[in-house]
Amino acid sequence: MEENNVNVTAPAQESAPAAAPAKKPFKRVNKKKVCQFCVDKVNAIDYKEVGKLRKYVTEKGKMLPRRMTGVCAKHQRMLAEAVKRARIVALLPFKGE
Ligand SMILES: [Zn+2]
Repeated sequence: MEENNVNVTAPAQESAPAAAPAKKPFKRVNKKKVCQFCVDKVNAIDYKEVGKLRKYVTEKGKMLPRRMTGVCAKHQRMLAEAVKRARIVALLPFKGE
C-alpha cells in the first residue's frame, strides 16, 4: 500500500544542467578591517575604559573573536587582559553570568 512513498524524497538533484551559469562562491566584498587600537596608536589598554571594551565583548560579556573586530594580535592580547581585569572589578560581566 505504501509503494507511493518510495523515491519521493529524491528530487532531481543530480541532473545539473551543463549550461549552468558560472556562479561565484560566496563573493565577499574585500573590506579590510584595521585595528582601531593601532589607528589610535594605543600602547596600553585601560581596563577602566569600559565604553571601549564593550565594543569588543558581547552582551553576555564574551569577547568577540579577532576576525570579527579586526583587532591585531598584539592589541587583542592587551584587550583580553583588560577585559579580564574589568571583569574582576565588576565593570564587565563574566561569561555566562
Ligand atoms: Zn593593533
